[in-house]
Amino acid sequence: MKKKSPPAKAENADLERFGRLAEYNRRRRFDVTPEPAGKLRSVKNQALEFVVQKHRASRLHYDFRIEHDGVMLSWAVPKGPSLDPAARRLAMQTEDHPIEYNRFEGVIPEGEYGAGTVMVWDHGTWEPEVEDVGRALAKGDLKFALHGQKLTGSWVLVRTRPRQWLLIKHRDPSASSEDVTAAKPNSAVSRRTLAAIARSAGASAKQLAQAEEADRFSAAGQPAE
Ligand code: MN
Repeated sequence: MKKKSPPAKAENADLERFGRLAEYNRRRRFDVTPEPAGKLRSVKNQALEFVVQKHRASRLHYDFRIEHDGVMLSWAVPKGPSLDPAARRLAMQTEDHPIEYNRFEGVIPEGEYGAGTVMVWDHGTWEPEVEDVGRALAKGDLKFALHGQKLTGSWVLVRTRPRQWLLIKHRDPSASSEDVTAAKPNSAVSRRTLAAIARSAGASAKQLAQAEEADRFSAAGQPAE
């Protein structure tokens, strides 16, 4: 069997132009996936964006992303965010995403990285509750406020190991014992279920069945920790 040749130097150099989004671009084939290609955006003065994307890939999880330095810092939260300050939700840091990704709702085709249905579950703006976000990230303790449709108030991300963090709601008036992922399962931008998104984006039969299963799972609520 012929060994796959390594990518040409020129190709690598081309990817490196994208700096912090090189990893995002490396994992995706933009002639196949409907996801946006990663381009760095200049740092702006407007409010910082956040998004939570509900993603039925090999497993259902919630991708929590906050804008910082022209990209979306990203964490995969298997159980999704919780409004209960006693819940510590595992959040695995993943590759930085482009800011354009915040508007992506659709289906990543079978065989591609992250294949499955993606929903914009919540979105809005965020504010650091620390002076220096870079330093807080380096320290592994970032306090912040969310201004979303479902997630609001004060939160913290705490790193416990390399790339492994906990997402925790602070005790404040927006804290609640309500299971927000079960109470508000649908898209914040289109009100659609995962199955409705899958259907309109031409998902495969298998992907549609997985989206339907994830909708039923969300509606049933998750077992308490
Ligand atoms: Mn994901």
